[in-house]
Amino acid sequence: MTDTATSAGPPRQTPRRGEFTLIDRFFTDLGPVRSDVRLGVGDDCALLTVPAQTDLAVSLDTLCAGVHFFPDCAPHAVGHKSLAVGLSDLAAMGATPAWATLALTLPRRDDAWVGDFARGFRELAEAHGVRLVGGDTTRGPLSVTVQVHGLVASGTAVRRSGACVEDLIWVSGTLGDAALALDRLRAGKSPDPALRARLERPTPRVTLGVALRGLASAMIDLSDGLAGDLGHILAASGVGALIDVSALPLSPAVRAQVRATANWTLPVAGGDDYELCFSAPARHADAIRALGAGCGCPLRVIGRVRPEPGLQLRDADGTTVNLASVGYDHFTTEP
Ligand code: ADP
Ligand code: MG
Repeated sequence: MTDTATSAGPPRQTPRRGEFTLIDRFFTDLGPVRSDVRLGVGDDCALLTVPAQTDLAVSLDTLCAGVHFFPDCAPHAVGHKSLAVGLSDLAAMGATPAWATLALTLPRRDDAWVGDFARGFRELAEAHGVRLVGGDTTRGPLSVTVQVHGLVASGTAVRRSGACVEDLIWVSGTLGDAALALDRLRAGKSPDPALRARLERPTPRVTLGVALRGLASAMIDLSDGLAGDLGHILAASGVGALIDVSALPLSPAVRAQVRATANWTLPVAGGDDYELCFSAPARHADAIRALGAGCGCPLRVIGRVRPEPGLQLRDADGTTVNLASVGYDHFTTEP
């Protein structure tokens, strides 16, 4: 697409030749070669073969500098996270990742930045068998858009709409770490590397998500905080839930913060964890626990689906935790 044809902005400033050498250098051979890619980077379209009896799962996310990551964030981390958030969406449907496309907008040509970005993207792509099959490269404020494509046996993807009354509600990993790291960075402090990695290099729960097909009745990945995201499952399923906040899985750092402030905001409303939250009939509990152990990903029951609509949080002693008091409104109304 020619920029000037569709916008009143200045004409494309990157010489086309520079653009192509950038693509050749960093993006023509990214990720494992796959036999279902008939044509990858280099033509007007990629040509991809979707097997019979298979649904194609597609999701797209944009990360903007200054909005979704700090402008000085390590490019390797930006490359990792821009693919990780898409793989997390595929995981939440139980889809197996296959291909990705990448739209990269750069303020100027900076091969060192793009090289580190591409390395972060590539390492995660290789770990999950994802081939980069196309994209777009433009000049403008730094932003990264990644579309991921996954494959799932027809009709077996796990949607948000399947939660049933009496199902148990589970989460993977620990909650609130990314939000705690973000709080610390915003305060000008440097979070310790493990905590910072939870924000900048999230681990998409791909193996777990795929394994939960046939067991989970509804599933979502936690990008905007437990309360909001579980709320999407409840609304789509026409049910409500009771959550025991004392059962939430917390890292020592988040547990200390919750204790010190007597406030559940971080694990209940903090975003960017990219853990999976799902519902499942109680009869599958043993199988699900075994799956978690097999994937090296701890899983925890945090509550139960009930017929009354809405999300209610209770503390260990049975007292209700007010959603507004944990910053739920603040987080969900943030632009
Ligand atoms: P067109 O003008 O036909 O849209 P482009 O000139 O934008 O094509 O891109 C040339 C080729 O390079 C296409 O195959 C496109 O998919 C690929 N491409 C462009 N930018 C990227 C990128 N950042 N990552 C991967 N592939 C890219
Ligand atoms: Mg074209």
